[in-house]
Amino acid sequence: MKASILSNSSKFVYSAIREEDDFAEELKKQGKKIVKLSSGDPALYLHTPQYIVDAYVDALKNGKTTYSRSQGVLDLVNAIIERYRQKYRLNLREEDVIVTSGVAEALTFLNGSLIDPGDTAIILKPYYTQYPVAIRMLGGNFLLGKYDESNDWSIDLDALAKLAKMGKKGKGRNRIKYLLITNPNNPTGTVLSRQALEEVVEIASEHQILLVSDEIYDEILFGRASFTSVGELAKGVPHLILNGASKAFAATGFRIGYVVIPEIDSASEELKRKLADYCRVRLSANTPAQYAIASAMGNKAEHERTVGEMVKSIEGVVDTAMKLLDENPCLSTVRPRGAFYIFPRIDMKSLDFKGDREFVHTLLEEELVQTTRGSGFGAPDHFRIVALAPKEVMRGCIEGVNDLCRRHAR
Ligand code: PLP
Repeated sequence: MKASILSNSSKFVYSAIREEDDFAEELKKQGKKIVKLSSGDPALYLHTPQYIVDAYVDALKNGKTTYSRSQGVLDLVNAIIERYRQKYRLNLREEDVIVTSGVAEALTFLNGSLIDPGDTAIILKPYYTQYPVAIRMLGGNFLLGKYDESNDWSIDLDALAKLAKMGKKGKGRNRIKYLLITNPNNPTGTVLSRQALEEVVEIASEHQILLVSDEIYDEILFGRASFTSVGELAKGVPHLILNGASKAFAATGFRIGYVVIPEIDSASEELKRKLADYCRVRLSANTPAQYAIASAMGNKAEHERTVGEMVKSIEGVVDTAMKLLDENPCLSTVRPRGAFYIFPRIDMKSLDFKGDREFVHTLLEEELVQTTRGSGFGAPDHFRIVALAPKEVMRGCIEGVNDLCRRHAR
């Protein structure tokens, strides 16, 4: 057999979230109707608000179809600066904001800027699936902290402090390059308390580790959940914030994300310049989409109305799902406080499945409901449900989950 032409590092490039897509397609070809609860895509279920679509069309009509400023068109950069001034009282400069093609591209640029083979980053499990891929693709390693399920999926701070300490021993290449948290969290829906966040900042500061906070769900909060941005707490501590238009603006396909780096210490400044270089190499993000999101961010009244309606509807779907999930003796589920995911633990001993992969595959095959296995997020014996489908559809899906568990009880 001929040797493979693929690079070694490419073996890490894989998406657990899309793993069942081919099987779902096959079922569709057989005429079956699949409910897709695997894609964290509000535009798919709730649609991009009309005023944002109109702004996109306007941008096209007004000739915004060229390449544009690599680090982001100034209309959008200034809208982001204004957003962070109003929402989090941050005073950002133009150079502190870098627009990317989604947070996905920001993660690629960030790792490209920071990670050499042998370098380490700290991520926490359950993690968003792209995090480990983006590190390992470059020959980097990660240390795994954890969100503690028995404590509402909040961060296990003792374990984190221990990992951070290990980084002190590593020098040069083996140094811990950054610590990445997700708040609100995908896949658990946790919203970190201000106190927990303060402790994370303290750990990063003590061990001089760059703190990265993925806050892409910062506007999707249920009930009385209160969100604090790392930017509000990490004064004087090098940190960066990832965010974008995909979730709060229900504009996933626009591919607009951004990085905010509020501090002006030498490491932060160096990183800003390097991220800008990455942006230049790929020329620009989608130009009309940037103008559309700039306009949407500037239209506060419409945005607050549409995001408010979206959050209300998601919360209703989560309530409906949680009620039925709680009736299932094979599952235990921490209630999400934000984002739009539900992440039940499966009591595998009570079921005849070999693991979560078989559980989600059979759920798709027998109940035509597509979800994602928890092991894809580093948390075996769980599965992730996207709570964006209409309430009645969600009710049918969770009844399907419960029927599946009854049929496969040991
Ligand atoms: N970060 C988290 C935590 C996510 O859940 C997602 C998408 O689901 C992303 C980043 C990717 O977002 P984008 O569409 O901006 O690339």
